[in-house]
Amino acid sequence: MKQTLLPVILLLLSPAVVLAHAGEHKQGLISTIGHLIAEPDHAIVLGMAAVLSVGAYIFVKKRKAQTERQ
Ligand SMILES: [Zn+2]
Repeated sequence: MKQTLLPVILLLLSPAVVLAHAGEHKQGLISTIGHLIAEPDHAIVLGMAAVLSVGAYIFVKKRKAQTERQ
């Protein structure tokens, strides 16, 4: 399991993914949030982060329920 997750984690942390495009985000908070949602390169990463967060929450919740049953 660790062998399959490590390349995915490294890919997600690589600068090419983190820096979706050249340039800076100095438009202000509201404009930056709109930009992050409207631009596909940012939206994909945000979507992946949301899916991973929900998956991690469900995993921890199930693991905790199994531990409490024993
Ligand atoms: Zn951007």
